[in-house]
Amino acid sequence: MPSPSLSEIAGVLAASRRILMFTHVSPDGDAIGSLLGLGWLLREQGKDVTMVDADPVPPELLFLPGVERIANQPPEGPWDVIVALDASDIPRLGSPFQPARLNGAPLITIDHHVTNLRFGAYNWVDPSAAATAQIIVHLADAWGIPITKPAAICLLAGLVTDTRGFRTSNVTIDVLATAMRLMESGADLAEISERTLNYKPLAAIRLWGPALEQLQVRGPVIWTHVTRAMREQVQAPDGSDSGLVSFLLEAPEASIAAVFTEKPNGRVEVSLRARPGLNIADVALALGGGGHPQAAGCSVDGPLAEAEVRIIPLLLAVLEPEGRS
Ligand code: 5GP
Ligand code: MN
Repeated sequence: MPSPSLSEIAGVLAASRRILMFTHVSPDGDAIGSLLGLGWLLREQGKDVTMVDADPVPPELLFLPGVERIANQPPEGPWDVIVALDASDIPRLGSPFQPARLNGAPLITIDHHVTNLRFGAYNWVDPSAAATAQIIVHLADAWGIPITKPAAICLLAGLVTDTRGFRTSNVTIDVLATAMRLMESGADLAEISERTLNYKPLAAIRLWGPALEQLQVRGPVIWTHVTRAMREQVQAPDGSDSGLVSFLLEAPEASIAAVFTEKPNGRVEVSLRARPGLNIADVALALGGGGHPQAAGCSVDGPLAEAEVRIIPLLLAVLEPEGRS
């Protein structure tokens, strides 16, 4: 189906009463910020909104207004419309997303991942947006509705976290103008940055010790892994830590960084980062995941060592495209 306009999507939402919203598993600031931000906007329009995420909200996001309303399973329907946020494919929505239980309600996907598989009835995918939260602001404008303070706080948290404090290569004048508007609506940039970016549980800091001891470098690719045993050693709970992979890419010798994390179910979560001008989204997509040119990820079969042996050459090939043919 042809891409709808944002006004058409606003029209579908305006005509709906019971709205069920999902975001991605292992939620980050943009996932939770977009979910809560759109949740506020819809409730302010008189909608009956249910927000679902399969996994717990990370502790640094628990200050966001409305966070206590997020359920980990949807209640019984029926629903007029379903919304999927910041997720590029159906598995990314986790086990609570059961199409068979949605009574045929149309699905709207709103996302900024270039790898989005356009799995909804209405898909608004804008890879030029720095965060899904930025698209929610565009949606409010297309609808002609105001952005209130609680919505602005949640949406600015999405923008701040996905851009790591407005430092990523997709930060444009429009991104900064959006941030300014959210500040004008009452969101405190310094407080949101402090609470989200300057936060790491002690156990997660301790985990960097054993993880950095396993550091490997081959050409311009730098990587390490996090085993379940390392986690047990420092009593770190299961979860991803995108800070570690970004930290590895600070090495001037490196152009691509990867962290391989062993999950409790034996699968391996792969976090990828690349310098501007490179593109690791295609590698992630080919491995069943997705993401952005400079930040992508996927989940692959274990064991850990085999995943590394399989994936590192794919990353080296990104840097030597002529060697691939
Ligand atoms: P991170 O390394 O911070 O977990 O993820 C980086 C980017 O890759 C994010 O935009 C995230 O949405 C995407 N990503 C990470 N893992 C997966 C995955 O398993 N599937 C998909 N579709 N995207 C992923
Ligand atoms: Mn995002």
